[in-house]
This record gives sequence, structure tokens and C-alpha cells, in this order.
Amino acid sequence: MPRFHLLSLGCPKNTVDANGMAFLLQRAGYRPVDHADQADVIIVNTCGFIADARRESLETMQSLAANLREDQRLIAAGCWAQRDPERLMAWVPELDGVLGTRSWVALPELLAQIKARRQRVARQRLVFTEARAMALPESVGAPGYAISGRSAFLKIADGCSRRCAFCAIPLIKGDMVSRPIEAIVKDAQRLRDKRALEFNLIAQDSTTYGRDLGYTDGLAELLERLVAVLPESSWLRILYMFPGQITPRLIEVMADHPQVLPYVDLPLQHAHPDVLRRMNRPSDMQELRRTLVELRARLPHVCLRTTLIAGFPGETEAEFQTLLDFVQEQRFDRLGVFTCSHEEGTLAARYEDDVPEEIKEARFDALMTLQQGISLERNREQVGRVLPVLLEGTDENLTVGRSYRDAPEIDGLVLIERRVAKVDRMVTVKITRALEYDLVGELVGETGEVTP
Ligand code: SF4
Repeated sequence: MPRFHLLSLGCPKNTVDANGMAFLLQRAGYRPVDHADQADVIIVNTCGFIADARRESLETMQSLAANLREDQRLIAAGCWAQRDPERLMAWVPELDGVLGTRSWVALPELLAQIKARRQRVARQRLVFTEARAMALPESVGAPGYAISGRSAFLKIADGCSRRCAFCAIPLIKGDMVSRPIEAIVKDAQRLRDKRALEFNLIAQDSTTYGRDLGYTDGLAELLERLVAVLPESSWLRILYMFPGQITPRLIEVMADHPQVLPYVDLPLQHAHPDVLRRMNRPSDMQELRRTLVELRARLPHVCLRTTLIAGFPGETEAEFQTLLDFVQEQRFDRLGVFTCSHEEGTLAARYEDDVPEEIKEARFDALMTLQQGISLERNREQVGRVLPVLLEGTDENLTVGRSYRDAPEIDGLVLIERRVAKVDRMVTVKITRALEYDLVGELVGETGEVTP
């Protein structure tokens, strides 16, 4: 039985595709192994979103290529493979195949063709990077999720039909393709039966889910179907919402169902209307403020997360000050910042990248420093609250978990200052102390049966 080792980099959507690829290889008779040196085939699921991500993908592949045995095959899959196969093959000449993210379902076929060719001719690489629509897991009977412990990522759509000026994702993944509601509900039931407690819904823009299937309020519709099959204690978390797309019905569904967490991940990228217009993004700040007020009014204790870009072409000191003032005014619970990366092929690549790197870094620091203080204040408001916490790990005298306010891999943690025997379960924790990004608490219940 041939053995494979699959390394997935980048975002949870890549993690879900990697899980799908692993499923397909096992169905094709391959066996997964934990280490590259044990494998016949090594697959790197690359990320090609921004320069830093490409650098990590390149370094990973080059270090694997440096130790590649003659009898092993090295495959580059994922977003960078889709975006720039030629450059990838030039920088990693040891590659046997390149599989674009849109065609991840074709991995078994790619490996079969490589095997057949190798028997006929010497080293010849195979490239599958057709600019087709994103492949959906149900097209090959693969899972559209990835689970770790009791927490799962559940993909609801992929690709994006928007054209934000700085973003390369539509170039890489094409327009949005939504999964059928039935397929997502089936996957949620499978995850439930695998004892998942947390279901993180992912797409590029979750709030537009189903538009390509004819739904006007597809996400609200999907949530209503999901809560019907998931226990009340489940955590349904929506990631990657888009401004201007949070409908009154969606807010109602979030407010009415305990499974849907009061957690809103809403990347805004900026707050100055002129910059937002240059970014080709919604710029009606009054409407945005109304939505944030409505969310806070309808969802008590809602946790608001956003992502911002520092140093977009043309960003003046005054425009940046508007952004700082907005962050101070809105006091988000969670906030991430990127310095603007000038991405080839995007609309913004035509603008002059006129904000010097050191100014970008200075603005990044200013935003993160401001948010550090706000995050501590927001965390202090949690002291005294009793929250359900999903325990995920232990250290010597510490147990680590997450509350509804902490999305996996990107937010803070809840720390319990003793080692709890069993993790991977929901418990009840009284918050006793606040840190900048994390909370400290004590275990007060074994069930987690409290409303967030
Ligand atoms: S909505 Fe998100 S994924 Fe789509 S183009 Fe804009 S930034 Fe990129």
C-alpha cells in the first residue's frame, strides 16, 4: 500500500481541502504516514494569499525537496500552486506535480498519471491548474470539513465573487461556489456523530452564502437547518462575514437559537470612506455603525472581531487617524491587522505602493498597541461571568480552553490554573482575572450547560 504525507498550510479552507484530499487518497488505497521520510508521496497544500504565506510555502517545499529520495514523489497543491505554477516549478525543480486548489479533487488522478508516466519516461512533471470553478467535496463524495478534538471547520462555500482591490483570492479560487444546504447539513450530522461540539462555518464571504443557488438570505436559511439537527449545547460559529450583508433575518436567527454563538467575525479592512472606495469595498460608515449597534442590541455579550489593513496605497495620515479613531470608538473585542501586501494581478497592484514599509509597520504597531489596551478592558468586563469553555489541552499546572469569544487558531484562550484530568469536553468556568488577550478562571461545573 503506497504511503502519503500531507502538509497543509494557510487557512481553515485549506485544512478542509487537505482533509478531503486525504480521504480521496485513502479511498484510492493509500495509507497516511506522520513523517515525510516514511512516505512514497509528499503533498504540500500551499497558501498563496500574501507574500509571507508564499515564503512559508516555499521554505517548506525546499526543505522537503532537499531530503527527497529518488523513489519519492513531491506534489505542490493549494492556492499558490493554482496562482503561479510556473514560478513554483522554477523554484522547486524537484516537484513531480502541481495541483491547483480548484482541482484538489483530482489528486488521485494526478498521482496515477505521474506513476504511469514515470514507468514510460524519465522525470516529467504534471500540472493540473485549470481555471475551473472551485471543486466541491460532494462532487467526489468527500467530507467538506476537518475536525480536531471536538472542534470542526465546516466549509459552506469557497471562491469569491467580490473584487476587493488588494485581494488575490478571486484570482486564485474564482467566483463563489456555495455547497448545497443538504450536503452541509449531512456533514454537520456526521460531525455531530463524531462528537463535535464546535462547528466553525467557513467560506470567503459567509454572508453571501447561497446567492449563487438562488437564496436571498442563504446563511439564515442554512443556520435554521443546522440548528434543527444539532443539540442546544453545540457551538455554531460564523467566520468571515462581509459588511453590508448582515441582514435583519440573520440577526434574528442568531438571537433566537442558543447554538448560534454571539460571535461576529466581520473583516472591515478600513474605516475611512475614501480608502474603502479605493479598496472597492462598501464605504457607507453610517450603515456599518447601524449594523454594529443592532448586533450589540440584539445579541447580549456579542464578541465582535474585525481585521484591518494598514498602509493601503494612498493612505494619508488623516485617513489613518480616522481608522484609529474608529477603533477607539467601536472597541472591538478582537482585532487583527495586516500591513498591505502589493499583490500581482489585483486592482491595487495598478496603484503606486506609495506608503513606505516603515510607515506601514508604524501604523500596524499603532493599531495593535491601541487594541491591546481595548482588549484588556473588554476582557475585564468578563470577570465574574460564568462561561461554557471547551477544554483543549493541559500543561504542567495549567489547563487551556476556549470560550465562545475565542475562535480557534486566531483568538485568545481561557486558562485554568490547575491541571484538569480530562480535556476535549465542555465545562463551566467562572472568570476570575483578565489578561490582555486571555482570561483566567476556575472550574465551577462539569457540563458547560450555561448560555454564553
Ligand atoms: S470579500 Fe474577502 S475574499 Fe473576497 S475579494 Fe474581498 S477580501 Fe478577498
